[in-house]
Amino acid sequence: MEHKEILLIKNGELALKGLNRGTFEDILLKNIKRRLYGAGSFTLRKAQSTLYIEPREEGADLEEACDRLSRIFGISAYTRALAVDKSMEAILAATGDYLADELRNARTFKVEAKRSDKTFPLTSPAICAEVGGALLKQFPHLKVDVHQPQVQVTVEIRDFGAYIHAAQLPGAGGMPVGTGGRAALLISGGIDSPVAGYMMAKRGIELTAVHFASPPYTSERAEMKVLSLLEEVAAYAGPIETRLVPFTHIQEEIRRHCPEELFTLIMRRGMMRLADCIARREGCGALITGESVGQVASQTLPALACTGAVTSLPILRPLIGMDKEEIIAISRRIGTYETSIQPYEDCCTVFTPRHPRTRPRLEQVEAAESALDWETLTAEALEGVRNKTVIG
Ligand code: ATP
Ligand code: MG
Repeated sequence: MEHKEILLIKNGELALKGLNRGTFEDILLKNIKRRLYGAGSFTLRKAQSTLYIEPREEGADLEEACDRLSRIFGISAYTRALAVDKSMEAILAATGDYLADELRNARTFKVEAKRSDKTFPLTSPAICAEVGGALLKQFPHLKVDVHQPQVQVTVEIRDFGAYIHAAQLPGAGGMPVGTGGRAALLISGGIDSPVAGYMMAKRGIELTAVHFASPPYTSERAEMKVLSLLEEVAAYAGPIETRLVPFTHIQEEIRRHCPEELFTLIMRRGMMRLADCIARREGCGALITGESVGQVASQTLPALACTGAVTSLPILRPLIGMDKEEIIAISRRIGTYETSIQPYEDCCTVFTPRHPRTRPRLEQVEAAESALDWETLTAEALEGVRNKTVIG
């Protein structure tokens, strides 16, 4: 076998409770194939709770492939590895050169051997001793530290060959997208809702995005901003079917006919009604929002109760108990923050009441909004929906 650099994905015992392991791995494999598209051509195979990703040709971009892997849910750890013949000769000849950069820059190391092919003539401790000895010879400045080595050299003897690698990198964790069904993400241009979508995708949920726009009060730039945010979320969540819903007429009707202190709440209920219709026709089992208790007037417990009362779908609010600081930390990490803080208006910020009601009573809200012909307004908005598929 010629030496070849490949990627190994380790899933350990992760997330197999209650979910058929085969289904989990099949969906994960499909997601990996789809995401690696464009980074080169790869062969994928699985054995012994490890996925092997082998470039089929020279010039596959392993750096790019790793970057993509780091955003695929359902992967707990991954690493680049060198595949060599299953002989000590080949292993000894290759290890030092393959990990030369890491080893040159370290003071301490240790070798770990895993021998899942029990027909290999040497035991794990013997492999470690031989490889360790050879590395000490090649890099005389190194010392062995079995407790806290700066570099851990791993040699795995497996079915198809021997694999040499340094530390594994942490994966994105979670469940493969597609194992948890589908839900509709209500996405604004703000900081919170993209994070909410990321968090539910991490639990294996496929996203359909719903965005309400109120032109000319909201601009085309604001819509572009939402699509950019979705692209960033899609780098984790996979392709996102997006529904752009015209919301201007509903907002104008609310302003014309409803008491000002209830504007935001009635508007939020309008959004939930429309999202409910879209979710049902697209096979979504839940709605997702970026709400967090107490963040704004429309996110007090009584307000959340009023908002939720218009739909019988479960409302997933993954940020509900989080501080803004915590939400911002995630949005920075996943790359949505810089886009979120661009200053384009959202339809929520058009017609905001000066004194919004923080303890609304449902009967009052229902009475106030009964002035509107919701059936017609809803049908009209649904008629005007535009579809886009956003790819990460
Ligand atoms: P965000 O940062 O996500 O905008 P927020 O704290 O600004 O949230 P609100 O603006 O009150 O809160 O919105 C609460 C939730 O309602 C959002 O997290 C989002 O799920 C949904 N939402 C708000 N505006 C829109 C919109 N224009 N289109 C779709 N969903 C929206
Ligand atoms: Mg907002």
